[in-house]
Amino acid sequence: MHTKALYAGSFDPMTLGHLDIIKRASRIFDELVIGVTVNLEKKTMFTFEERVDMIREVTKDMPNVTVDKCEGLLADFVLRNGFDVVVRGLRNTADFDDEYSMDQLHKHLYEGKAETVYIIADARYSFISSTMAKQVISLGGDGSMLVPDHVLKTMRSKLNLK
Ligand code: ADP
Repeated sequence: MHTKALYAGSFDPMTLGHLDIIKRASRIFDELVIGVTVNLEKKTMFTFEERVDMIREVTKDMPNVTVDKCEGLLADFVLRNGFDVVVRGLRNTADFDDEYSMDQLHKHLYEGKAETVYIIADARYSFISSTMAKQVISLGGDGSMLVPDHVLKTMRSKLNLK
């Protein structure tokens, strides 16, 4: 069986935690699509195109990883594109609690056609969030342990930092 997995999020911006989940999921599933969400109500630091470009650059050497736009209800996107698996990263019990209730909803909405697979964050990255990375880097802190090098360079140039 050929397994097609989706890893969705806003990736504003992609962090080392996201990258670790992408690497690990790409080893398990035949195809991994990173679904970058468009949420008009959520104000992002990076435009949709910038978020996609950063992910494409960082994952360019991963042959079974592609990037796509994820709009509207996640379950509709999953069914429309024939995904077998939806990958989620779990950092802590707060993530677990959120995911636990979402899972009940998705079990219903996926109509038995897709399954959610949870990957526990590596201890080196479990404290990282995109929000934390934005705060640290915009205040001039060392962000090299939070985001991939390419993302760090892009953020610094957007913020006019050295
Ligand atoms: P959203 O905007 O939907 O919260 P994110 O881009 O923050 O999306 O996260 C997308 C997915 O990545 C979620 O499953 C989230 O739990 C997971 N994730 C976020 N940060 C990390 C991390 N540091 N380690 C592992 N997984 C993470």
